[in-house]
Amino acid sequence: MGRIRLIFLWFVVVDKSFCATIPLGDEDVHKELCLTKTCIQLTSQLFDNMNLNADPCHDFYEFTCGNFVRTKEIPEHKGLVDGFERVNNLFEQQGKALLEKEQSEGDWEIFKHFRTHYKACMNESAIEEKSLTLIKTKLESLGGWPILKGEDWSDEDFYLEDYLVTAIQEGFRSFSLFEISVEIDEKTNDSHVIKLDQAMFGISREFLAQGRQERTVQAYRKYMNETAQHFGVKSENLDELDKVLDLEIELAGIALSRENRSNPILRYNEFIAEEIPSTIVPSWPQLMQKIFQNETITGEEKVVIKDLDYFRNLESVLEGYSRRNLANFLGWTMIKNLDSYLDSFILDKKQELEAILKGKKSQPLRWKRCVKAVGFNNYDPKSFQIGVGSMHVLEYFPPKAKEIVEDMLRRIRATFSDLIVNSNWMDDATIGEAQAKLDRMDQMIGYPDELLDEEKVTSLYEGLENYGAVGVAIGHEITHGFDNSGRKFDLDGKLRNWWTNDTDKAFDVKKECLVDLYEGFEVKQVGKNVNGRLTLGENIADFGGVRSSHMAFEKYLTENNETQVLPGLPFTPLQLYWIFFGQSWCTVARDEKIRDNLLNDDHSPPQFRINGPLSNYEGFAKDFGCKPSDQMVQETQCRIW
Ligand SMILES: [Zn+2]
Repeated sequence: MGRIRLIFLWFVVVDKSFCATIPLGDEDVHKELCLTKTCIQLTSQLFDNMNLNADPCHDFYEFTCGNFVRTKEIPEHKGLVDGFERVNNLFEQQGKALLEKEQSEGDWEIFKHFRTHYKACMNESAIEEKSLTLIKTKLESLGGWPILKGEDWSDEDFYLEDYLVTAIQEGFRSFSLFEISVEIDEKTNDSHVIKLDQAMFGISREFLAQGRQERTVQAYRKYMNETAQHFGVKSENLDELDKVLDLEIELAGIALSRENRSNPILRYNEFIAEEIPSTIVPSWPQLMQKIFQNETITGEEKVVIKDLDYFRNLESVLEGYSRRNLANFLGWTMIKNLDSYLDSFILDKKQELEAILKGKKSQPLRWKRCVKAVGFNNYDPKSFQIGVGSMHVLEYFPPKAKEIVEDMLRRIRATFSDLIVNSNWMDDATIGEAQAKLDRMDQMIGYPDELLDEEKVTSLYEGLENYGAVGVAIGHEITHGFDNSGRKFDLDGKLRNWWTNDTDKAFDVKKECLVDLYEGFEVKQVGKNVNGRLTLGENIADFGGVRSSHMAFEKYLTENNETQVLPGLPFTPLQLYWIFFGQSWCTVARDEKIRDNLLNDDHSPPQFRINGPLSNYEGFAKDFGCKPSDQMVQETQCRIW
C-alpha cells in the first residue's frame, strides 16, 4: 500500500513542480520578487481559481476554488476536471513519448512488454478485423457460449472446474465466479500465498447491490444486450441474459462491501486448501494444482480468503442456476473482461454505459486510452502501474527533485513523530512501536540514485519548496501508516496488533468523531451525504497530512529567510501555503461522477478534503484569524494526532 502510493507521489512532485516556485511574501523575511514567466503565470493561476469575495473563514474551498468551480469546463471524455488536469495531461504526453520510443539498449526488459502492449492497443484495423473472432474462438474452446449457440449447446459438455482452470490459465483471474491470485502474505510480509476473493463485477459491486431497478444497473443490462447482439446472439435469445444479470446481482449481494474491503483483518482468513468453505468445485487442492502447474499444491497448502462470507454463500447462490445459466454467465464475464480491447461498435456502447456510470460524454482519443491501458494515470492495480512508474521516473524525475522531496519527508516525519509523542491518548508502549514504524518509513520510497541522469536537473527545481501541495501529500501518506487500516501493520509491514488495549479503545473513540463529521457533509450538487466509514482511512490521512505538513512548514519558514516571492499577492506565506493546498483540490465534476465517487471512492469529495481537516485545525484558524463562531471552526474538534 505504502509503496504504491509513494511512487505516485513522485509523479505529483515532478509534474506539479514545473509550475511551482516558493510562495512566500511575509514582511519578516528577506524578499526577492520572482518575475519569471513561471512565477507570473503561477500568480495569475492562483487568482483565476480563487473567489476573493468569499470569506476564507466561512468556506475555504469557495475562497480558494470558487472561480475554478464556476469557470472550468470538464473535458468531454471525462467525468471531472481538477487541479491535476494539466499534470495528468503532461504525464499522459510523457507516457506516449516513452511508449512510442523504440526499445533501446539500456532499457529494462519489461519496457519492451509495455511497448508491445501499447502497439497492439493502437492497431485499430487489426482490432476491428479480428477481435470478435478471437474471443469467439476462445469461448468455443471453453465449450461455447450457450446463448450464442442456442440449441447446439449441451450442458453435458460443461465442466465448471475445467472452465475455470482454462479461463484462469488464459489470464482471466478476476472476472469469473471468484478471483484467485498469488500475493504477499501480510502475516509474514516476506512470502507469498494463494488468495481467493470475491469476483470482479462488470460494474461496481455497490451499483449492483442496489438491485435491478438502479439506473446504472439498467444501463449495464442494455450494454449486455447490445454486446451480445453484436456477437451474433439472436434477439429471441436475449432473455437468457436476465439470468446472467440476476446471478451477478446475487453475487454482489454476498460480496463484502467497499467500506469493509479496507479492513485488513476482515480480509485475512487463513485456511488450508482442503478446508475452503465452499464445494463449488470437487477439490480445491486439485483445482489449484491445475492452475499453478509449476508448484506442488497439497491439501495443506495455506490459502487466504479475502471475502469469507462470499465463499460461504457462493454455493447456495449457485444452486438457483442451471449449468446453462452458469456457462452464459462465465462467457459474459470473459467478454466484459476484454471489452476495452474490442472493436469500435463495442467501444461506442461501452461509452454510453460510462456516460451513465461516470458522466463521460465521449471517448478519449485512442492513444490516451492505450497509454492508460498500459498503466499511465491508471490506478487499477491490475495495470502495469508500478513498472510504468519506473519507466517514467528514470526518464523524467530529476535527482534535485528527489533531494527536495526527501528533505520535506524528513521534516514532516519529524513533525509527525512529535505529534505521536505528544498525543495524550496513546500509552508509552504503543508510542514506542509507532515511532519505530515511522523510522522505517523512508525505506518504502525511492529508487537507486545512480539510475538517474544528473544532467537533467532543471533550474526550475532550485529552491523549490511547495509544502502546500506536495507537503500535505507526504504527510497524508505518512499518516496512512497509522490510519484505521494501516495501524494494523507493524514496522516490518506485517499484519500484527501492536496496540495496547487501552490505546486501541482510545483510537476507536477518536475515529468515531471523524465518521460523524463526514457523515454530516452533504454534496449539494447531488443531494447526497458522504459515507463516513468508507472514507475514514483517507480522512484520517487528510487530517494528519494537513497538520504535520503545516507544522513542518512553519518550522521551515523560521529556518529559511531568503526566499523569492510572487508578485501582487496580498497574503502571508502561511496563508499562501493554505491557498496552494486548497487549489491542489479544486474540482468540477458531473453529477454521475459524484454519485459514483460517493459510492465507490474511499476519498471524500474535494471540498471536504479541504474544509474537513481545516475546520478542525487551530493552525488554519490562526493563519486566517478565524473566530470560534466561524463555520471553518467546527464546534466539536476532531483530532487523532
Ligand atoms: Zn490516501
